[in-house]
Amino acid sequence: MIAAVLPTYARAPVAFVRGVGVRAYAEDGTEYLDFGAGVAVNSCGHAHPHLIAALTEQANKIWHTSNLYQMPGQVKLAERLIEHTFANTVFFCNSGTEATELAIKMARKHFAALGQPEKFHIITFEGAFHGRTLAALAAGGQQKYLDGFGPKAPGFDQVAFGDHAALEAAIGPHTAAIYIEPVQGEGGIRSVPPQCLRGLRALCDKHDLLLMFDEIQCGIGRTGKLFAHEWAGITPDIMAIAKGLGGGFPLGAVLATEKAASGMVAGTHGSTFGGNPLATAVGNAVLDVVLADGFLENVNRQALNLKQGLARLKDLYPNVIEDIRGEGLMMGIKTKVLNSDFVKAALGQHILVIGAGDNVVRLLPPLIVNDADVTEALHKLEAAAATFEKN
Ligand SMILES: *Cc1c(COP(=O)(O)O)cnc(C)c1O
Repeated sequence: MIAAVLPTYARAPVAFVRGVGVRAYAEDGTEYLDFGAGVAVNSCGHAHPHLIAALTEQANKIWHTSNLYQMPGQVKLAERLIEHTFANTVFFCNSGTEATELAIKMARKHFAALGQPEKFHIITFEGAFHGRTLAALAAGGQQKYLDGFGPKAPGFDQVAFGDHAALEAAIGPHTAAIYIEPVQGEGGIRSVPPQCLRGLRALCDKHDLLLMFDEIQCGIGRTGKLFAHEWAGITPDIMAIAKGLGGGFPLGAVLATEKAASGMVAGTHGSTFGGNPLATAVGNAVLDVVLADGFLENVNRQALNLKQGLARLKDLYPNVIEDIRGEGLMMGIKTKVLNSDFVKAALGQHILVIGAGDNVVRLLPPLIVNDADVTEALHKLEAAAATFEKN
């Protein structure tokens, strides 16, 4: 008999009922160190008092009004995102894939409104993950996710990660945009080097393409800057964000320049729930935390602690760990054992980590981790690695 909940996930046999900071507690009270943060979502950790206060304050006022009316919480959050980024305008949605969907629509509409509707192709990269709606799947281009769901949505050209010649060759009169994660998440924590991001910017300028970043996972302080592309000193035309933005409340957004968004006039896009008062109250509270003095300094400090500790583990367990990669608090351990076995071994040591492509184990702790949390995590990961040496 089919499960009550559609069985599309391979779930670990544990349910969490409570969380505080970097720790989550199972039904039986067992404490776990949460270095997955719900896949980079719990940016401020569990039960952050400032987020709880913002959500309950809003819950006592009004939950939902619809985008038929003025949305002061959206305006405030949009203005703050604009103040801290390249963007001139923001659209709010509920998830990453919806943000991807709008980024694609916006790029196509931009050129259509200029009288160039034939420019609708988007170039993406092997190993990408942009979400699970039909267009986002086509953008991600992963066969295992596309299989059986009918013809792949047209207009996506994928090139190998880091293959500059293939990229240039893929650009044609039909190309509207390049869409890329500055740090691939699901693909296995693969960073695009800053000089390559700068190269993409130059290429887009040269060919009159829009540069679009998917910072759904790597944004909101995850790499030690508010957005990962800031390390490269360039800006995109359009950017999709979600995950950490809501700190656990479903919230996504698309940020864009005025020029890139020029086709998106009244009636061209919408969402029932997108940016509702509860979501933007929490989003604003997340920004209060992440933009506070010293917050990103702590991310960078803990990132260094973590990276150094992981490098030591790699030296200690060369038969288990092949490589350490990543930026900030978005780290990957490429394992020599099956990554899913390592994730299980970590769970056995009461630390939550997450599998990714390329046989990588992802570490995505809440950005509020401190020295003691990182030290504890490294002990638990060492114990997990040791379980393989014994066999
Ligand atoms: C998670 C993720 C998405 C999809 O987000 P959903 O909220 O699951 O729809 C898209 N792109 C990247 C880079 C992601 O990490």
